[in-house]
Amino acid sequence: MSQPVQRMSRLMVKTLREDPADAETLSHRLLVRAGYVRRSSAGVWSWLPLGKQVLDNVSRIVREEMDAIGAQEVLLPALLPREPYELTGRWEEYGDLLFRLKDRKGADYLLGPTHEEVFTQIVKDQCASYKDLPVMLYQIQTKYRDEARPRSGVLRGREFQMKDSYSFDVDDEGLAASYALHREAYRRIFTRLGMDFRIVSAVSGAMGGSASEEFLAPAAAGEDTFADCPSCGYAANTEAVTFALAPVAADEVGPVEELDTPDTPTIEALAAHLGVPASATLKNLLVKVDGEIVAVGVPGDREVDLGKLGEHLAPAVVELVTEADFAGRPDLVRGYVGPQGLEKVRYLADPRIAPGTSWVTGANRADTHARNVVCGRDFEVDRHLDVVVVREGDPCPACGAGLRLDRAIEVGHIFQLGRKYADAFGLDVLGAQGKPVRVTMGSYGIGVSRVVAALAEQTADERGLCWPAAVAPADVHVVAAGKAVQLDLATRAADALAAAGRRVLLDDRPGLSPGVRLTDAELLGVPVVLVAGRAAADGLVELQDRRTGTRETLALSEALSRLA
Ligand code: ATP
Ligand code: MG
Repeated sequence: MSQPVQRMSRLMVKTLREDPADAETLSHRLLVRAGYVRRSSAGVWSWLPLGKQVLDNVSRIVREEMDAIGAQEVLLPALLPREPYELTGRWEEYGDLLFRLKDRKGADYLLGPTHEEVFTQIVKDQCASYKDLPVMLYQIQTKYRDEARPRSGVLRGREFQMKDSYSFDVDDEGLAASYALHREAYRRIFTRLGMDFRIVSAVSGAMGGSASEEFLAPAAAGEDTFADCPSCGYAANTEAVTFALAPVAADEVGPVEELDTPDTPTIEALAAHLGVPASATLKNLLVKVDGEIVAVGVPGDREVDLGKLGEHLAPAVVELVTEADFAGRPDLVRGYVGPQGLEKVRYLADPRIAPGTSWVTGANRADTHARNVVCGRDFEVDRHLDVVVVREGDPCPACGAGLRLDRAIEVGHIFQLGRKYADAFGLDVLGAQGKPVRVTMGSYGIGVSRVVAALAEQTADERGLCWPAAVAPADVHVVAAGKAVQLDLATRAADALAAAGRRVLLDDRPGLSPGVRLTDAELLGVPVVLVAGRAAADGLVELQDRRTGTRETLALSEALSRLA
């Protein structure tokens, strides 16, 4: 079906030559400069006509693929009462991320950051029997999160568009099937969007060991780091990479020996003093877990990833110890802690601290260290947890080859939730045997507005945006670069393309130089640019490929038959 030509003479689009002062990422700079979005307040954005078209193109593809797997579209409120979120504990757990407000009667409300609670209630209300399941519901809706650092434009908004869907099944096999359907739908969505994406394992956090994967768009501006293995294809968010515990034989290690090591409270000082590599030393970080002091052991050359530690121990709260915590604890000698002889302190350790490995570590006395301290012989680990920051070259958990690290933007997340929310709301259906069955759930998100920025990050160059065809605001940008002859030829080209079903943007703005128009065309990023320029009088136009920059002069009729 043919669509009207979008005439730039009437389109509300104002391009800027200067970058906005606060812009940190390429997509932020270009989306503002090209007039696609406009900042309203921190992390809150208006979508202008061209931006709205790109956003709608993303939504349409998402919607088509969700419909194709049998998910049903609904629209729930963004303004939600406190009670369901109180019931699941998220009213509190969300902390400062949640926008909370009161109505005129003083009742508490929130602006939905995600909707597990409300979907669970809907299904409890609507589905009574196993015959009503499985059911998959989705919405494309505005979400609210009071992000701490809403930088990067629409990549991380405080108000943003998300497609969220939820699956409801009577058993684990059903959940696995709903999850697989979503995984495939997401593959098709991101493929159709023209995105370069990776599927990586993610941490499931407080919700337990169920399956969870993220869809990541590799990009320098990304806030996530993922590890991938060039040899076997393993890929995981670095927070989900776990090193295997591999015990070693320790037969020939001598007995523990204490060493006088004055002024060596840091690993660097100790390693230099003893002439051993930092990796041979054992560093013991003290943290408080729900108020209890706990020691965490990692090799001296590694850093503890507090985020990973927090994920492992959630919902317990992890904090660093302070000076005050050492008061009344003569057993804890700051800078000289060792796991041997730590009587009253729980000891967590990285899997690299495997049974049989031998270490140089603190001797629990000032200025003193101990060597030949063997795991399993001289101290026990209460719990092994992978908590170190993953490094380039670390062994792949699947095949042992060196891992590569890359930055990426999280554009989607699929997650087998299990029965957490069904338990909270008592969501049962009558089973085939006539007894109530507890429902199991999945939750699946795509950051629709973030996708727009992620695509811009992946495809833009120094001259401007460069959209994949599926999301571009037009198929062809026709430029009238000159006077009446050029405008006449350009208009004919635009009309013919529109009649052939192409989406056309026509630069028919009066009084602009060809240079300004061509610069704007590059900035706006429509994949194909058709220019009616110098040779217009001879019926010739120039076709430009925005991505490759290739140009070709040819007769209008030939250009049209190529593009139609
Ligand atoms: P992040 O780790 O980036 O904060 P998240 O893990 O909290 O994201 P989810 O709760 O999994 O996000 O939300 C589903 C999807 O919504 C994410 O995969 C992402 O694409 C998108 N999203 C989340 N937060 C934002 C935001 N502040 N702005 C834009 N999109 C977002
Ligand atoms: Mg996520």
